[in-house]
Amino acid sequence: MLYRQRTLETPHGDLETPVLFPVSNVGKRSSDNTPAYADQIPDLRTAMVNARAIRQREPQWERLLDGSSLRQEMGVPDDTIVFADSGGFDFHTETLDTTPEKTLETQIRIDADVFGTVDLPLSREDRQAKNQRRINESIQYALAASDAHEGDSLLFASVHGHDPETVRNSIRYLDRHGDFDGFALGSLVPIRTDYRKTTKLILAARLATDKPLHVYGLGGLVYQPLLLYLGVDTFDSSSFIRSAGNRNYLIPGFGGREMHRIEGLEYLPCPCPVCGPRTTEAVRADRNLLVQHNLWALTIELRRFRYMIAAGEDIESYLELRFQGNDVTHRAYRMAKQQVRRLA
Ligand SMILES: [Zn+2]
Repeated sequence: MLYRQRTLETPHGDLETPVLFPVSNVGKRSSDNTPAYADQIPDLRTAMVNARAIRQREPQWERLLDGSSLRQEMGVPDDTIVFADSGGFDFHTETLDTTPEKTLETQIRIDADVFGTVDLPLSREDRQAKNQRRINESIQYALAASDAHEGDSLLFASVHGHDPETVRNSIRYLDRHGDFDGFALGSLVPIRTDYRKTTKLILAARLATDKPLHVYGLGGLVYQPLLLYLGVDTFDSSSFIRSAGNRNYLIPGFGGREMHRIEGLEYLPCPCPVCGPRTTEAVRADRNLLVQHNLWALTIELRRFRYMIAAGEDIESYLELRFQGNDVTHRAYRMAKQQVRRLA
């Protein structure tokens, strides 16, 4: 097992890893917004924001330029640890509408603790040559950010590759030529159902350097235990919002279940502060409650894993049980286990 725990120092305090950064759609229209969770979930003093989106929402950006703080805008405590990615996943066009310097300026202005470098995600459909160009450009953007970056915030180089060799080489190259506090592996969301490939890429990144590793976009309920097992330090997810939008109720160990399929049940099987005291009907009727429960579900999964470690339990047996209910993810875990054991 490659699971690891460490403490990262950030401007807003120590960050105990492994940890989830819930995606915060700060400033978006209210139906898409992330409800306040920091008060309710004490071990989630973290948030993932999109630097480019924040800069593009003019009224909000004006307020930030006028001295309002991002944490005020988000309604979260001042010591919330914020990871600001560049917003690379929106870049579907050929022309980049930001620069490493502009992104850095935004990240500094919003007082983020972890900066993700500007990156051009790969597409599964795109041809090899185009993806290769994107990989190289992302490397150049990361090096430009390294040159321009100063201060205590952590700089994570965003890395892409759809084969382990490329991921490994990119990280080693960046480690040699730039000054980075960690690495962030992207472009996995489009291939996430290919567990074998995804696992291999994460392993390649994990073993290419001892520095902290973030994985973009895969911190949902199903992947989270795999990421922990592979020793990923930080991860993010918006699945709790998206699932709620689809009226999906996340259940650790099972995944998402459609709310309308849950019939004849007065109370849900979850003891979180949202579901515990409420009827199924009440949770079903309120999307915000569903988002909050879903975030609790992610937190509970993480807490359970931490508990199994603290109690000295056999993690591989635990994960066998964990993934038993789903053939696809069970096979995925088995593959990960084989790959990890081969390293031993
Ligand atoms: Zn719940």
